Amino acid sequence: MKAHDSNSVGAPAPGRFPPVAGLLVMGMGLAGLAGWIFDIAFVRELLPGFPTMKANTALCFLLSGVALWLSSAGRVTPARRAVAIASAVTVALIGLLTLGEYLLGVPLRIDEWLFRDPSTPAAAYPGRMAVPTALNFALFGIALLALQLARPRPAIVLAIAAMLPSYVVLAGYIYAAHPLHTSMAIHTAMTFLLLSAAIVATRPDLKPMSLLGGASATGLLARRLLLAALALPLALGWLRLTGQRARLYGTETGLALFAVSHVAVLVALILWNARSLLASDALRRAAEERERRTAEKLRLAAEAGNVGLWDWDVPTNEVYFSSRWKAQLGYADDEIPHRFSEWENRLHPDDRERALSILHRYLAKPWPDFEYDFRLRHKDGSYRWILARADTLLGTDGQILHMTGCHIDVTEQKRAEAELKRTLAELERSNAELAQFAYIASHDLQEPLRAVTGCVQLLAKRYRGRLDERAEELIQHSVDGAARMQALIQDLLAYSRVGSHATPMTETDCGKALDLALANLSTVIGERGAVITRDPLPTLRVDRSQVVQLFQNLIGNGVKFCAGRQPEIHVRAEARDGEYVFSVRDNGIGIEPKYHERIFEIFQRLHTRSEYPGTGIGLALCKRIVERHGGRIWLESAEGQGTTFYFSIPQVRPEHA
Ligand code: ADP
Repeated sequence: MKAHDSNSVGAPAPGRFPPVAGLLVMGMGLAGLAGWIFDIAFVRELLPGFPTMKANTALCFLLSGVALWLSSAGRVTPARRAVAIASAVTVALIGLLTLGEYLLGVPLRIDEWLFRDPSTPAAAYPGRMAVPTALNFALFGIALLALQLARPRPAIVLAIAAMLPSYVVLAGYIYAAHPLHTSMAIHTAMTFLLLSAAIVATRPDLKPMSLLGGASATGLLARRLLLAALALPLALGWLRLTGQRARLYGTETGLALFAVSHVAVLVALILWNARSLLASDALRRAAEERERRTAEKLRLAAEAGNVGLWDWDVPTNEVYFSSRWKAQLGYADDEIPHRFSEWENRLHPDDRERALSILHRYLAKPWPDFEYDFRLRHKDGSYRWILARADTLLGTDGQILHMTGCHIDVTEQKRAEAELKRTLAELERSNAELAQFAYIASHDLQEPLRAVTGCVQLLAKRYRGRLDERAEELIQHSVDGAARMQALIQDLLAYSRVGSHATPMTETDCGKALDLALANLSTVIGERGAVITRDPLPTLRVDRSQVVQLFQNLIGNGVKFCAGRQPEIHVRAEARDGEYVFSVRDNGIGIEPKYHERIFEIFQRLHTRSEYPGTGIGLALCKRIVERHGGRIWLESAEGQGTTFYFSIPQVRPEHA
């Protein structure tokens, strides 16, 4: 989502000029009043011998400044509004009442209500503001009131109308043309002009500010021409008059000089503006070209990536679908009209409610990274899975003005995902079946095997010495074979139990688990005189009986594979990056690196039974146990150098284990 540029939606902020002008006008009013309170003639007149700023005028300026400042700075509160309206109404009333005094010839005693007017020469109406001043205050009072009543257009028209008398008075001062400035003080006229400009500037979005403002070439041109129109004739006229008064030339020459200089300056101005217009034209064309190329690149990228684009003007409900958007559904560009319903009507009946409700929720309160998927009907009647992503342009009040997004056809991914899920489920099922089968088979085999072993052992005991040598040998083979078979089946049973008949994970002191393993191995440890040492071991959340089995297998191997040497085995554990790494180090025969992977596979042995007895299941079982705990198992060893088996157990185990 992007917040919309605040300059083009709703009433824009007026900028800094109007409130600053409000403060200046207030200052002018206060200064004028101070001139009367402290009797400072300079402040009242500014130009000695010229009309004074009357006390009422100063008061009206103060109030106008207050109303202007309140209309253009800070937040609108009821109290601020009330003060602004009261000030504007007072200004309008003073202006209108003074005009009434002039028109009806009735003195209303408002002229010297605040101060007596000591002006010399005494005015016809001491203390009374001039007719144009009164007229202006009537206009400004109403204009400021209109601003408060949210009627900016009449306010601007009145402010522009009020410019005229002040401009005429200013021209009168510049040319020392007596009848034009007999009554209004020069600072009064200038303050009026400031007030007019500030009221106009409160609404940069309305004419004439919308024409004059901004950084556009049009605005710049309009500003320059306006300034020239307002100031040029006044300035050239003043030059002409000054020269004429100094007797440098007569009326005709003066007029000719005035006209020629006017033409020259205007021509220069026009040429200057034409040049900057040309430059801005070139810039605009270059920017348009860049924009066109960017749009083209975007279109090509979207085409290449099989991305369909759409754009929705929410308030007008106008929609655009790119040709790729349509092609994804099997349509040519002219086959789908640009209507919102074209999308909606193609939604899969099962997805329709969900997709529309997600969209409505998003429209009510947009969130970042908007993304959802649904099925859309293809021209051939099949449904395609579409992943839609979108971003929005927000208005100042937070509502969505524009929504733009893309469609990505994810039908193949969805299909592959579903396939993968199916395969995984199938795999899990067959794994479970296999484990169950292995368990049942080994469990059920135990019973007949026990019977066979029992019989053969009985046979061997009963008939020892009564049969010939060959028969005794055969019986002994049968006893050995049955015992091996029993060991194999027990190991297989333990292996298949790891996944299917596991006990729950509990907080386990691994030191105690090691004690149990050593107790189970006590006979063989005693026989071999093995020395087992250890470092402190942690307490972890594990399957206790499986960890006992793990230690038992690794230490048992260490004791077994030592080639007549006295076995020395050391067990330790070390915390590393969120896991514990255990190690079981022996001083045995070692393992060639090329077998380091293979020995973890079931039934993989590196020696004959006559060298070292065993089933080849022990390490495969260890691997299964460690993996069930979310860890890994590996070793470091070289032939004849002893072996260190490592296994890791995460401190926080994965959820599913
Ligand atoms: P088993 O011990 O029943 O033979 P295992 O799965 O425990 O089966 O071990 C597989 C093979 O790995 C063993 O036959 C042996 O060759 C080798 N092996 C295991 N542990 C050690 C060890 N500590 N030192 C040397 N070789 C070992």
